[in-house]
Amino acid sequence: MLAYQHAYHAGNFADVHKHLALYSLCTELLRKNSSVTYIDTHAGRGVYPLDTTEAQKRGEYREGILPLWKKRKTLANDALLNEWLIALARLQKPGDQMSHYPGSPWWLEQQLRRQDKLHLYELHPGEHRHLTQAPLTGNIKRYQADGLKGFKTHVPVSTPRLCALIDPSYEIKSDYEAVAETLGYVARKVRHAVIVVWYPLLPEARHQALLEGIRTAGLRKVWRSELLHHAPEGERGMYGSGLLLLNPPWQLPERLSASLTRVAECYGKHASHHQDWWSPE
Ligand code: SAM
Repeated sequence: MLAYQHAYHAGNFADVHKHLALYSLCTELLRKNSSVTYIDTHAGRGVYPLDTTEAQKRGEYREGILPLWKKRKTLANDALLNEWLIALARLQKPGDQMSHYPGSPWWLEQQLRRQDKLHLYELHPGEHRHLTQAPLTGNIKRYQADGLKGFKTHVPVSTPRLCALIDPSYEIKSDYEAVAETLGYVARKVRHAVIVVWYPLLPEARHQALLEGIRTAGLRKVWRSELLHHAPEGERGMYGSGLLLLNPPWQLPERLSASLTRVAECYGKHASHHQDWWSPE
């Protein structure tokens, strides 16, 4: 039984990390005309109003997107952050307050062209119902099904390019191994696939199973980016957000790193961004 609902976490620092990366990745892909199949294996609701009981209960967006939103004029000298925050402004109701935070389906839909396709997977029946009602247009298909299994059915893809986000809630421990296995499978079928994988940084360091799985699968060209929001507190609780990018476009790691360092500065003296090549070429 799935219990996780992203509405309680929307706009937190992990969302900032993954959505900024996703945005910069899509922007790079748009430089070429050839069509792209996008796959979001764990889509969530698509859009999250911030005045709901769920969003207000933990108020995680207050320590995630809100510090950046408040500093958006100062951050305008970072080209990527500036563009990303302008895109975010398009979803807001008139006024200075943030009213909504978008999920990955919205960020992908914003960059979708006529020649592209977007497949959204969401297994939770309630979350999927919200997703079907999300105001998303274009060549989009929404499935209530397992995202990792669904992903495999699309490869090899009919378009010249493939880009995917794998963003599980990791409610089941074996998800870490399952993600690594899926990544290996897809990379064998589509060698140039560009894939973003998100994982939480927890005191238990469960993500090691994912990292080891990627080594075992023999995947090359995997860039790792970790945004540490605060120091670990006790034995539980997410203190940072991790991303793996398979086949990132040329120079994207450098550009994204510079912006993520600015993000970490906004989060205070205990925050930092670290990057390396988990598996070089
Ligand atoms: N990607 C979303 C975003 O960035 O806005 C957030 C996704 S949230 C972290 C994870 C989602 O995966 C939850 O909505 C959960 O219901 C869904 N989920 C859990 N297990 C799944 C599965 N096996 N297949 C597809 N979706 C699943």
